[in-house]
Amino acid sequence: MGDELQGLVAVVTGGASGLGAAIAARLRADGARVAVFDVNPDAATDVDLAVAVDVTDDATVVAGVARVVAELGGIDILVNNAGIGAQGDVTANGDDEWHRVWDINVVGMARVTRAALPHLRRSPAAAVCNTSSIAATAGLPERVLYSATKGAVLSMTRAMAADHLAEGIRVNAVNPGTADTPWIGRLLDKADDPAAERAALEARQPHGRLVSPDEVADAVAYLVGPRARSTTGIGLAVDGGMHELRLRPP
Ligand code: NAD
Repeated sequence: MGDELQGLVAVVTGGASGLGAAIAARLRADGARVAVFDVNPDAATDVDLAVAVDVTDDATVVAGVARVVAELGGIDILVNNAGIGAQGDVTANGDDEWHRVWDINVVGMARVTRAALPHLRRSPAAAVCNTSSIAATAGLPERVLYSATKGAVLSMTRAMAADHLAEGIRVNAVNPGTADTPWIGRLLDKADDPAAERAALEARQPHGRLVSPDEVADAVAYLVGPRARSTTGIGLAVDGGMHELRLRPP
């Protein structure tokens, strides 16, 4: 890794596990000082600061941002990554579940961005990356609520990119395919035969395997770093080709 992010401060939400943990480690390896916002901050490793923040609770978000600024000196990079899954067709989840998942996956990203924005405005290298998903574009079966939230993340990314272009704040998204994280591990553990279910899941991916968290972290590091300074408003697919090749899981 390099030193492209030397001197910059990054906040990664949901950085105590899975994709967020890989992103935090990668940004740190590139020289950034990294703060993680997570409901489970004690699980965060390889970070400069881990703060108990629930992205659905504005008071913890505002306090978390203030703490990062006080302890690390500002915010240059924001990675809105915290999110949860939701399964099923349109009948599977009632209003309460819709509001709960939407509040984490969509409003949570807006809340943290809103709080961080005054500090991003002071940075000469400001960049935001939001974790969307292949679910935003692929029409995955049995993922109505989750797909709606991830589509909203992608739309919100583009709108924010337009709003903050003139002030030099770039806003992009990363759209991972099914990635090998504890979340997927928890889903597989519920299967009768987790090993067989895992093999079936891998076979459904265009490149025959799950996406690795490090591959997603590489994409995020690129998008928030100086090599992508002419890139804003995109959703970068890290999905083995599922989106661009218009492939669908069988
Ligand atoms: P994960 O469950 O391994 O990690 C999620 C992290 O977010 C955990 O540390 C958790 O404590 C934290 N978190 C959950 N709710 C929170 C809240 N309200 N406030 C603050 N932190 C909270 O999941 P993951 O697989 O690493 O997923 C991370 C992101 O990537 C999510 O946005 C998810 O939608 C997206 N994604 C995952 C996959 C995949 O296949 N794993 C694919 C595409 C997109």
